[in-house]
Amino acid sequence: MKKKKDKKLLSWKEAYAVNQKAFRLLYRRYPQMFTSRIICVVWEALTPYVGIYLSALLIEELSTSRNPQVLARLVLITLLSAAVISLLSAFLIKWRDTQCAGMYFKVKQIFTKKLLDMDFVSIDDTKTHEMLSTIDQNQNGGGWGLYRVIGNYEAIVSAILTLLGGIALTVTLFTQPVPESAGSLTVLNNPLFVLAVIFVMLAVTYIAPALSNKAGSYYAHRADSHNLANRLFGFFGWLGYHQEFATDMRIYRQDIICDKYNSSKTDTFGSKGIFAQYAKGPIGFYSAASAAVSVIFTGFVYVFVCLKAWAGAFGIGSVTQYIASVTRLSSSVSSLIGTAGDMRNNASFLKLVFEFLEIPNTMRQGNLPVEKRSNRDYEIEFKDVSFQYPGSDEYALRHVNMKFKAGERLAVVGQNGSGKTTFIKLLCRLYDPTEGVILLNGTDIREYNYLDYLALFSVVFQDFKLFAFTLGQNVGVKVSYDKKMAERCLRKAGFGERLDTLEDGTETYLYKEFSKAGVDISGGEAQKIALARTLYKDAPFIVLDEPTAALDPIAEAEVYLNFNDIVGDKTAIYISHRLSSCRFCDDIAVFHEGELVQRGSHEQLSADTKGKYYELWNAQAQYYH
Ligand code: ADP
Repeated sequence: MKKKKDKKLLSWKEAYAVNQKAFRLLYRRYPQMFTSRIICVVWEALTPYVGIYLSALLIEELSTSRNPQVLARLVLITLLSAAVISLLSAFLIKWRDTQCAGMYFKVKQIFTKKLLDMDFVSIDDTKTHEMLSTIDQNQNGGGWGLYRVIGNYEAIVSAILTLLGGIALTVTLFTQPVPESAGSLTVLNNPLFVLAVIFVMLAVTYIAPALSNKAGSYYAHRADSHNLANRLFGFFGWLGYHQEFATDMRIYRQDIICDKYNSSKTDTFGSKGIFAQYAKGPIGFYSAASAAVSVIFTGFVYVFVCLKAWAGAFGIGSVTQYIASVTRLSSSVSSLIGTAGDMRNNASFLKLVFEFLEIPNTMRQGNLPVEKRSNRDYEIEFKDVSFQYPGSDEYALRHVNMKFKAGERLAVVGQNGSGKTTFIKLLCRLYDPTEGVILLNGTDIREYNYLDYLALFSVVFQDFKLFAFTLGQNVGVKVSYDKKMAERCLRKAGFGERLDTLEDGTETYLYKEFSKAGVDISGGEAQKIALARTLYKDAPFIVLDEPTAALDPIAEAEVYLNFNDIVGDKTAIYISHRLSSCRFCDDIAVFHEGELVQRGSHEQLSADTKGKYYELWNAQAQYYH
């Protein structure tokens, strides 16, 4: 077995701080959930003592005066109290369950919200995804992380209450003296003996959970290894469920290679895996030892309580009360120690959760409002802009200088990897330039309110996504959208004919996830819907990244033909590696290896026989003409 370095435990102080932080975070978001759980816990911790106390009274009465009236009254009270307690318990549990419904997903939402709020640059960073994936695996594999905090706080409150109740019912076990007539058993009255008994009880009470924690720590310390196995299973184990893989799976029998990867998880969870070895070795030993110590403890309690009863310190009725309350007392101390240990084990996982939740948003957010210009009189300028992706040594863009005005049609062309999409991402402020500055009407775009600035752009990225909502909701990106406008935009984008075939028009669901009557659409149709979405937003700048890549030649020609009409008075930036599709733009920017190498109209650029445009045009011409 390969020895791995243990995940370092945090100090108790650090563990306490991070658990408290997690509690505050969860409580602020879901206070009702905590209140209902805690009230339930208080109720569940205290009510058993009513039963313990009443049955002790009953046994006592039975073993002494056996007065039928007293007995009848006691039985009635016992039954009534049991009924009332059960009723109230059911009510409280229902309340708690209602409050906690979907708790797992509520906790997940904390992460989703963070992802939505973080700078795009962090979203794009693989480190962020690794972190999130580890957090997920910690949760799915061992139940470690934020969600565990809820149960742990509940367990702590429960244990403290049970402990207090246990102490209250146990004190007299030690204080009631054995009568002098008991002879040598009067040693049970000796304070030193009492202290020794309490000490032994506490020691044993500590040892059982400590051993159990030790067993549990093997899982926590090897989280990385079951994370990997879970990750493999999470991906390869469910491939059959995904419709999008179904065709390739069949043609290439990808299930065979996937199965191979999937089965490598048996290295971790199989009978020869690391956890099986632990189970045969230390985990098994510590768990068994912990159970044995608990049984020895119960035996010890029986001996002590029975001895005192035998010696005459109290009646036989109290024996059950003391045994039950000492056992509960001990289990509450065990639970307290166990939960504290668990919270400490969980602390390093929580630390990672907060590392993720506290990823800083470093993008400068100005507060200058973007002027709403009715004549869409905007001018954008890239001034000596260079850009490196985070973690990359290469420049994706180098010293780009360019200006364009509202109402213009700009085509950005170049080979794959020449920097076209990066240029758009900078323009839309998904990233800030590494060097240089981008100006909107002469002002650095970082000075503007971020959301205001984003509102200027409608973009169809190459990897756009549509939802399984209605067609109209996809176009309007709203639950209640303007139906007429959505229709108009769809027709403009070339979706008119298809729209006419749909019985429910814009109310038709896309895909079948939410409606049996949903329609499946082709890649080209999806692209038209995405185009309609950009038109619906009605932003002054419209950016189309390879918008006709999935269209058939006729539909493509149609889009070009209507391009001016589609775009109207907006500024259009059109990206393509297919030069023929950009000919209709009077302003073409040519990118090559991250640099803007040429700019002009098709005629101007193709006249320069040494230029990149000429080279690309001629290289592609043979396929298109
Ligand atoms: P184009 O759109 O012209 O095909 P891109 O702008 O996508 O080109 O890419 C320009 C360069 O930046 C390429 O070398 C590409 O590998 C690199 N690049 C693109 N996206 C990332 C990223 N997220 N991280 C690191 N490098 C990237």
